[in-house]
Amino acid sequence: MLQGPSHIYLGSPKLGVPKPATTKEDMNMKTQNSNIISVENLAETYPDGTKALEEISFNVHEGEFFGFLGPNGAGKSTTIKVLTTLLRKTSGKVSVAGYDLDKSPKEIRKVIGVLTQETTVDVDLTGKENLRLQGRLEQMHGAALENRVNELLRMVQLEEFENKEAGRYSGGMKKRLDLASALIHKPKLLFLDEPTTGLDPQSRASIWDYLEQLNKEEGITIFLTTQYLEEADRLCRQLCIIDHGKIVTSGSPTELKQAIGHDTITLSLKKPKDTSLKEKAKKILEGMQGIVEVSDSDGGIVVHAKNGDEIIADVVEALDRNNLRPASLNMSSPTLDDVFLHYTGRRIRAEELGRKTTEAFLM
Ligand code: ADP
Ligand code: MG
Repeated sequence: MLQGPSHIYLGSPKLGVPKPATTKEDMNMKTQNSNIISVENLAETYPDGTKALEEISFNVHEGEFFGFLGPNGAGKSTTIKVLTTLLRKTSGKVSVAGYDLDKSPKEIRKVIGVLTQETTVDVDLTGKENLRLQGRLEQMHGAALENRVNELLRMVQLEEFENKEAGRYSGGMKKRLDLASALIHKPKLLFLDEPTTGLDPQSRASIWDYLEQLNKEEGITIFLTTQYLEEADRLCRQLCIIDHGKIVTSGSPTELKQAIGHDTITLSLKKPKDTSLKEKAKKILEGMQGIVEVSDSDGGIVVHAKNGDEIIADVVEALDRNNLRPASLNMSSPTLDDVFLHYTGRRIRAEELGRKTTEAFLM
């Protein structure tokens, strides 16, 4: 199927692939490492010459909650389309679930679930009919199908609306039905392309809950793309930050934030004008383990530390012991947006920040 001309959409990977029994040969084809996705030097150039991906490389471990964070046009959907066999790659080496993308696209399609950016629900069918149809396309029948449909309707909390046409569902409900649909054949690896973009906060929160549950309780590996910093921070244990078709940095959200700077603890003393008290406090803080730098701020002291949340109690205690109990205390950590800014010189999304200065910066 992949032998045709390049850059053809091959239809939904969820569609009609019969499920033959796993043979010994299949097992031998699987690589023995714990990487469920392995991507080496993947490049994608569209027929009009747009270089959407420039030799990106990354691995995803089995059981991981993995994220691609990047602004519009970064190359997130292109990556998902290639990995899910919907788009033929220009070059590079990719394996998914132990199968080589070029040699075994059918095997890959059997073990993955895909939630695309656009909804795939049939608006004329009810929620339940949509899931039954999807199940039949996956060669599921009878009680097994009916049980799975009911189980999924329960999971995405659509039981109450199961007999209503999907065309009358809200955006959040359609997304939940899409998610259930992607899970019908119990995939071990789930791809989600911006699953919460455009959803209201409540719908977003429920999608987050389902995804955490699927990853933690059912061990499903998740590959998610997002342009929401909060979503990446909250859900993903490993992240690649992508911009203009390149991976700019990768690591856990905490590692990424720590790599670009320290936490800052800003504190003020009860008698801010008393410089001798301030100097005494600074001496104490400078001698403490874990503190990188101590400096002055307007009427207070700024402490830079690698793990602010771990030492904040020690800071208070040490000052308290010397009768220098702080009057106020404030800790701030770098955000993923600071990480994005650090590597690209731009903020990821002006509207998420609500800062006027960002717009000026982007001009
Ligand atoms: P994202 O999902 O991160 O928003 P995409 O992967 O959709 O980014 O797009 C990456 C780049 O490729 C963008 O510059 C986009 O305009 C371009 N692009 C996407 N699809 C096509 C296509 N079918 N033909 C030509 N260019 C495309
Ligand atoms: Mg996209």
